[in-house]
Amino acid sequence: MKPLRRRGLMYVMSSPSGAGKTTITRALLKNNEDLTISISTTTRKRRAGEVHGQDYYFATPDEFRDLVDNGEMLEHAKVFDNYYGTPRAPVEEALANGKDVIFDIDWQGTQQLAELAREDLVTVFILPPARAELEKRLRARSKDTLESETEIRGRMAKASDEMSHYSEYDYVIINNNVDEAIKKAQLILDAERLKRHRAMGLSDFVRGLKGGL
Ligand code: 5GP
Repeated sequence: MKPLRRRGLMYVMSSPSGAGKTTITRALLKNNEDLTISISTTTRKRRAGEVHGQDYYFATPDEFRDLVDNGEMLEHAKVFDNYYGTPRAPVEEALANGKDVIFDIDWQGTQQLAELAREDLVTVFILPPARAELEKRLRARSKDTLESETEIRGRMAKASDEMSHYSEYDYVIINNNVDEAIKKAQLILDAERLKRHRAMGLSDFVRGLKGGL
């Protein structure tokens, strides 16, 4: 039997920075051929090691405004002091090609996607195991990204804000252990892919099984 086609799903991962979201996202991409990541556009400064077109598309505030005004962003938001947005075309193309798309966006972007496509959206919030651990991870990261002390403190404050939105998400993963967290994120993806409403042509298929009765 030919497998039924399935509507692509939009898999959103949000978390305060330092909760391990990037590691989990990368593992999912490696393990799922039919999953692609949405690369965001941002006005924030490029950190050491970041590659344009791979980590982000880096844009000036003017360029960013033009993209928004031309309707080229699926969602956009101000996070910290910078703008971030999801380019529309690559997401639409991936979904049309039957791929699932993973998004690393904040709660504001998640709310906007929910207004556009709630049925196709699966949202996961990643929490760190403890506040001290979150701070440790942010500090370790800042060593190789040249982040200033002020930025780190700002990120800790923002983390509290961001975490207050956990209850708007379908799933929560507490990242005690990264391998376990990856397994849970994969389980969610696998189960969500099996949801009845994502299967296309299901009623015709069942009609066939019933022999037209
Ligand atoms: P960072 O500057 O550390 O890469 O990202 C800061 C925050 O911006 C993260 O919480 C990340 O999820 C969020 N973010 C990244 N890209 C987008 C986007 O396209 N839209 C929205 N709404 N948030 C984003």
